[in-house]
Amino acid sequence: MIEIKNLVKRYPSGQEALKGVNLTVPDDSVIALIGPSGAGKSTLIRCINRLVEPTSGEILVNGKDIVKLNKKELRLQRRKIGMIFQEYALVDRLSVMENVLSGQLGYVGFWKSALRKFPKEAIEKAYMLLERVGLQDYVDSRADQLSGGQRQRVGIARALIQNPELLLVDEPTASLDPKTSRQVMRLILELVEENKLSCIINIHDVQLAKMFCPRVVGLQQGLVVFDGTNDQIDNDVLTTIYGEEDWNLKKKPSEEEE
Ligand code: ADP
Repeated sequence: MIEIKNLVKRYPSGQEALKGVNLTVPDDSVIALIGPSGAGKSTLIRCINRLVEPTSGEILVNGKDIVKLNKKELRLQRRKIGMIFQEYALVDRLSVMENVLSGQLGYVGFWKSALRKFPKEAIEKAYMLLERVGLQDYVDSRADQLSGGQRQRVGIARALIQNPELLLVDEPTASLDPKTSRQVMRLILELVEENKLSCIINIHDVQLAKMFCPRVVGLQQGLVVFDGTNDQIDNDVLTTIYGEEDWNLKKKPSEEEE
């Protein structure tokens, strides 16, 4: 269980990206974070593993405040938190296998980790994950030979190799076409269920959020302005989160996919 209490992030520029966020994430639950660009979604996700240092507030993971952890404690905590990035964050010149294995070492530099020897179990686990994400034929390919969707699958396998308890996902489909976006979202959600993880997904595409995530949280200007189920998202809620717009005009039923 994660309890975020009064979380504030003020960047050195003076920009207050989070203005007192409160959010509870029960175990084994999935949350889609939506909201306009600049609402603070990415900052919120990154505060949870302290890639961004919170200014004040608490982030209690099973009762322990990760804001207060020292360096060593943070390193241990991060082993329990997998992260999937928008731009995949792969090392292009390394193989698919090496990229996945780099996740074994958490957040140490990729080059550093690539030079290490990995235990047999880690390699077996990486094979298993690569098979699960459909990349068994690309184990030795260089990361830069893959398509965007395949690269994100490597990112997914890398995030899971440490058996995390929590998965943070930051705009996983931002660089992907609509079909690949759906496939990647489906894969992430399947793996979250199979591995009984909690998952917070920053996703700017409302349709994808509604399609895949039962609970949706809307951020606006650094505050939670909506917290409910996907079927509660109607035009009024969209206006609350994004501001005035003729939402009906945006989507004609004949244009819906499937
Ligand atoms: P979102 O993910 O919802 O688009 P972000 O968390 O990226 O929002 O950004 C929230 C606000 O914080 C924005 O106004 C953005 O300009 C600002 N911001 C984000 N990162 C930094 C940074 N490293 N330094 C200064 N301001 C930042």
